Amino acid sequence: MSDEESGMFSDIPVDVGLIYEGERVRGKQMQVELGGGKIKEKFELVLAREMNEIEDEKVTIVGPDLKDLEEGKTYPIGIIVEVAGRLVEKDLEAVLERRIHEFTNYIEGLMHLNQRYDIWMRLSKSSYKKGFDTLEYWGKVLIRLYKSEFSKVIEKIQVTIFTDPKEIKTWYEKAMEIYEARDSRARGMKDEDVDLFYGCTLCQSFAPTHVCTITPERISLCGAINWFDARAASKVDPKGPNFAIEKGECIDEIKGEFTGVNEITKKKSLGEIDRVHLYTILSPYNHTSCGCFEAIAFYIPEVAGIGIVDRNFKGETVNGLRFSTMANSTGGGKQVEGFVGIAIEYLRSPKLFSADGGWNKIVWLPSNIKERVENDIPEDIRDKIATEKNAPTIDELKAFLKSVDHPVVKDWVEEEEEEEEEEEAMMVPQGQQITYQQTMPVQMGTGVGIPLVGQLQLPLGALGGGAGAQWKITFKNAKIIADEMVIKRIKPAKKKKK
Ligand code: ZN
Repeated sequence: MSDEESGMFSDIPVDVGLIYEGERVRGKQMQVELGGGKIKEKFELVLAREMNEIEDEKVTIVGPDLKDLEEGKTYPIGIIVEVAGRLVEKDLEAVLERRIHEFTNYIEGLMHLNQRYDIWMRLSKSSYKKGFDTLEYWGKVLIRLYKSEFSKVIEKIQVTIFTDPKEIKTWYEKAMEIYEARDSRARGMKDEDVDLFYGCTLCQSFAPTHVCTITPERISLCGAINWFDARAASKVDPKGPNFAIEKGECIDEIKGEFTGVNEITKKKSLGEIDRVHLYTILSPYNHTSCGCFEAIAFYIPEVAGIGIVDRNFKGETVNGLRFSTMANSTGGGKQVEGFVGIAIEYLRSPKLFSADGGWNKIVWLPSNIKERVENDIPEDIRDKIATEKNAPTIDELKAFLKSVDHPVVKDWVEEEEEEEEEEEAMMVPQGQQITYQQTMPVQMGTGVGIPLVGQLQLPLGALGGGAGAQWKITFKNAKIIADEMVIKRIKPAKKKKK
């Protein structure tokens, strides 16, 4: 932060700055929790208004304030940020809204996760003790950061924060309609219909090599920014985190590879990622994932199908891993074959893993997600996709898929015939990256033999350090003599309940 800006928050009792962005407030440290998995109705909204509809810099609290909330408890939360200005248009609402997450996290001891109807916040005891005892401070900080970051766009801004459950319920329903209206706008449009895609690098503060490619048929993986939203943002601030991508030449229309996407991803990831396959999960050039994906798609080699798990799914998924375990190996801006972060809205896209067979390749998803997107699942496959209710484990999944004759079943027969040849060694080609975790969720079934000759890179995730710390060990010209290195998947130890 510049000297000029440092005085900007002198009346706020805690620090405000970039350094607090990755800060986590653990359960034991929290004064209160707002939203999150225990609360059904919560929301954040940015709304474009006329100049005369806004009282500039006004903050309103509807419901009990922080000092009225019991320590250690969880409460509902909602926030509406209303903006006006000559350049403010409806299309900008979504991208402005996405910044609530970032700006809130600048506040010392205030944690904000996720977006839209899924927000989860915590205030630390220490910040509360320093005097952060009213939500008005939150509103004030947001107003100043919005005005400074969007000085050319936002001329007037007011913030309303809700803690009253009745008001939240009413607004939550309106908010859900607004999100739906935004998302449905892009439905029906095809990637082939446009010359421009858009990019988003908002999450590079914690996933430095992540570049989100937003196309008409691929909403950002956080689910908050679609093609129209990114277009509007890139128009008002072309040098900002949302920018246009000239599609360029289509190298592979099945896998979804474009010269323009490759070039800009290479530039924005500082040379780290130079090829991207948009329409597949089974490529070493998978789309990268930051950390705010609404769901994870994961390949299940035992059944040659794809599973989907959303952030709110409790417990182990069909492969024995939890969302959080898989999130560790999926996120951080890497390309991980067999794992990719996605938005729920993406399940409605005709390009959903279209190179792999689309819905015909999807075998498992949580029942509440299945209910949500039911009408978008092709009718002939709808009943053939398992959920945690009828297939909690791989064995049960196998039996289920067989009983309903899921399209992946015919791939098994072919695979079984080839198995003998393949059994000898499922090799990871030299130089290909594998992801190592304490519990090692390797995407291959039983054992993986790695020929340890030449160069082998192991990007290690979560080897201590802060959240999202990245380590990369490179063996150059190493000569390690081993007949075989076997990596086996170990079932992660069950976490104790808090
Ligand atoms: Zn992100």
